[in-house]
Amino acid sequence: MSLDKVNEQIAACSLCPRLLEYIRKVSDDRPPRYWGHDYWAKPVPSFGDPKARLLIIGLAPAAHGGNRTGRMFTGDSSGEWLMKAMFETGFANCPHSVSINDGLLLSDAYVTSIVKCAPPMNKPLNTEISNCSLFLKSELNLLKSTVVVVITLGKMAFDTYCKLNNMRGLKFKHDSVYPIDSTTTLIVSYHPSRRNTNTGTLTWPMWIQIFEKAKSIIEAML
Ligand code: SF4
Repeated sequence: MSLDKVNEQIAACSLCPRLLEYIRKVSDDRPPRYWGHDYWAKPVPSFGDPKARLLIIGLAPAAHGGNRTGRMFTGDSSGEWLMKAMFETGFANCPHSVSINDGLLLSDAYVTSIVKCAPPMNKPLNTEISNCSLFLKSELNLLKSTVVVVITLGKMAFDTYCKLNNMRGLKFKHDSVYPIDSTTTLIVSYHPSRRNTNTGTLTWPMWIQIFEKAKSIIEAML
């Protein structure tokens, strides 16, 4: 098994009928600003450096972001926040994430999510998270030998990651740092969704600090 193979399986997955129906409906009912765009409208593969030391786990592709462009955190405001921070800390070659052909390359970082299909209201059901954990588990296993820092974005990603790792009793708090094992560290972050960034729940200094911390942990391991 390889990450490419997992991504092939993700794109062909049909385990969650509610989500598959939703992502097609979103494509059919697209807003005027996306008329003329081709929508991916399938489960969205993860992407990045297969030898990554930094793993970022989000919630799910955005309905008109990843679900439209076919790449996680691409074509939406969360992706812009993520890539600006990754570029500023040396994990990406470009501060923007616009389309699958934009030339963006991640360096030493891999980006995934707990659910690979955009859910209605950004709220996957527990059964859908459980179905998709199959892929996240494979990704965690395949990246285990290189990853030293995991950043979870938002409470659902944090809870799912802790559950998969049998990490109990940890509190979801932005900027918390927890040891996972002797070589791996978890950094907890709010999700860079508009709901958080537009309300000041997540400010730019709070956000960039997460990536600076990840960078310094990775560099300390050298
Ligand atoms: S959310 Fe995951 S498990 Fe469910 S259909 Fe999409 S890719 Fe498959």
